[in-house]
Amino acid sequence: MTDTQALIKTMDFQLDIQSDNESLLYDANLEARSVYNETIRLAKQGLDWDVIPERVAGNSNLVKNTTQRVVAKALGAMENYHEYDDFGQPSHTKDGTYPLCANYEEGYNLSLDDDGDITFRISAKPYQHIKGVLKGADSHLDILKTALESDEWKIGTAEALFHNDDPELHVNITNTERTVRGKHDSQTVVGVDVNEDNVALTALSENGIKDSLVIDFPEIKFERHRYFTMRKRIQNARKNSINDTLEGCEERFVRDRLHKVSCHIVEWSRQFEKPCIVFEDLKEMRDSIDYGTRMNRRLHHLPFRALQFYTSYKASFKEIPTTWINPEYTSQRCPMCRHTERANRNKKRFKCRSCGHQDHSDRGASVNIAVKGIKKLDWNVPALNSLPQVRKVRRQASGAVDAPTVTHPTVRDYQIDGRSGVLD
Ligand SMILES: [Zn+2]
Repeated sequence: MTDTQALIKTMDFQLDIQSDNESLLYDANLEARSVYNETIRLAKQGLDWDVIPERVAGNSNLVKNTTQRVVAKALGAMENYHEYDDFGQPSHTKDGTYPLCANYEEGYNLSLDDDGDITFRISAKPYQHIKGVLKGADSHLDILKTALESDEWKIGTAEALFHNDDPELHVNITNTERTVRGKHDSQTVVGVDVNEDNVALTALSENGIKDSLVIDFPEIKFERHRYFTMRKRIQNARKNSINDTLEGCEERFVRDRLHKVSCHIVEWSRQFEKPCIVFEDLKEMRDSIDYGTRMNRRLHHLPFRALQFYTSYKASFKEIPTTWINPEYTSQRCPMCRHTERANRNKKRFKCRSCGHQDHSDRGASVNIAVKGIKKLDWNVPALNSLPQVRKVRRQASGAVDAPTVTHPTVRDYQIDGRSGVLD
């Protein structure tokens, strides 16, 4: 088993396109959008996801690997992002352009010319190429040149798109030498329970619970519901262009907040010895049984995977590994006596009907996630005789603000969180 995760970085470059090829890229971006929309349409029709790539490729006027990548992105969005089905039409389809996604040395190529510039060649459509020179930050150009000349960095997929009317290429590269510590080389697991209006974290080692924290973000839930209502009203009035703008605003707002929350999670985790971050694997959850109203609502109304993705990405830059567990019963099980019963929970309160233990329900879930993480790493699960008092911080536009909470005398210090405003 290889137990390391590679370090991935995305760098943005401007495309200085030769002659009059800008319109070719624009056309290809429009074509990518129609591939994207067609994928969503077929998926919503209930077509088997495995046959969608072939079906879409048949009608696409893009090179094959690009079509495949755009289809994969559309299906990924279907899987990851929230959907409001009340719209009566696929909420993800839009007009306009979509990035042209390409595999290195298939859909696009880079090389170093005699002047030391990096030249590009992008297959916009079959037998139609865009060529020119990459422009961008010196440090990014340096890394890319290093990648072209050495084995340290490996060039991966890229996206060609227009950003504020300027053509850009966003290139993914992987550092093959610097890797994230393997998850088996960890000493603490941090269970992360993601909800619509908070995340709950618990750090656990073989010696017991180190600490736990709930980060509240009620404004994300509030804003998403507000945009939902606005969009619905506009939808009824059939003003779709406004609707698209709103969707963009909401997406930016939510993405920005989720980035901040994910920073907070990573910074909090770093205070523990050799942490490994543990998430619930949503895909597994979807494929198995019905988890009740709470889970179903979480699935449909939360950009859940986005937060997990941002967190694992940022964690990898701090060399912190992540792992995934089956979410079964994480919110219904008593963290103290392991008694499992759906009726244990009432909104944010958890009361065990077997041992009488009471808890913040999401914190309890994060303890269970951490315990599953420990089992997955084959460590001994410590006996949990008492849990630290739940401490909450509230994340707002200006950063994290400490909510009035009770702190338990035996709980270790919270310096990192007290200063977490600087994470922004
Ligand atoms: Zn119990």
